[in-house]
Amino acid sequence: MSYRGRLAPSPTGLLHLGHARTFWTAQERARAHGGALVLRIEDLDRARCKPEFVPALLEDLRWFGFEWNEGPDRGGPFASYTQSERTHLYRSALEKLRAGGFIYPCTCSRKDIQRATTAPHAEDDELIYPDTCRTRNHELPVGGCGLDNGTVEPATFDSRPAKKFSWRFRIPDGEVVSFHDENRGRQIFIAGKDFGDFVVWRHDGIPAYQLACVVDDAAMQVTEVVRGADLLVSAARQLLLYRALGWKPPAFFHCPLLRDRAGQRLAKRQDALSLRALRVRGEAPGTLRQKWF
Ligand code: GLU
Repeated sequence: MSYRGRLAPSPTGLLHLGHARTFWTAQERARAHGGALVLRIEDLDRARCKPEFVPALLEDLRWFGFEWNEGPDRGGPFASYTQSERTHLYRSALEKLRAGGFIYPCTCSRKDIQRATTAPHAEDDELIYPDTCRTRNHELPVGGCGLDNGTVEPATFDSRPAKKFSWRFRIPDGEVVSFHDENRGRQIFIAGKDFGDFVVWRHDGIPAYQLACVVDDAAMQVTEVVRGADLLVSAARQLLLYRALGWKPPAFFHCPLLRDRAGQRLAKRQDALSLRALRVRGEAPGTLRQKWF
């Protein structure tokens, strides 16, 4: 199969130099392989994403010198390239996971988890879920765990309000999940120690990143995922999803994260290094890129 790479920005703010560096690596690798590059807009998180950042990121990427073969502005065989228009695909993957017994409803709030959890893996942001609902699962009425409304109805009618729930993937505790990262070599993670049961469908009815990413990379026939090293542990989670769904996983290439002088990861709120601000200051993309290598 010929190489297919992708850029998968979230329109939560202006893109910065850190995104550009990772995306540039993705573009270079697609070019080196004579392959195609897909642009996918990851806009599922309605609270964090803003529609106005979509045209802004298209403009900033073009200014920087990016050229993609398929995307929301160009179309392509796997359209739509905007996640909020692909919910039906995530839903059918969720149904498949549910039918296979891979997921369970979870009614824990973030606070519940913070109270009972252990520290996450160093490079990862997600708390390790203490498995509270894994066994509580059976208390939920079978008919009440519908995918549509994101709530669990009490088994018998009483005055309790319906409770919101998410769907979590049950990881194989203690299993070593290893893979070869094309940039960082062999990666080894232990399920239950480096990451816990993770959310595939959020309690607010939105498909979670891990599921949407796997569904789209598989559906868009991406052969290599190039992205920031903050998502290394997520590759392990995603490999478990690929296996559960019976799909072939892509190769992974995780790039180092760009840090500021204080050693902090660049964030979208650090406007000084946004591509927009660099352009306004008269910086030339070619000169900026030379500083990376
Ligand atoms: N949309 C994610 C982000 O902007 C990237 C996810 C990925 O590349 O898998 O951080």
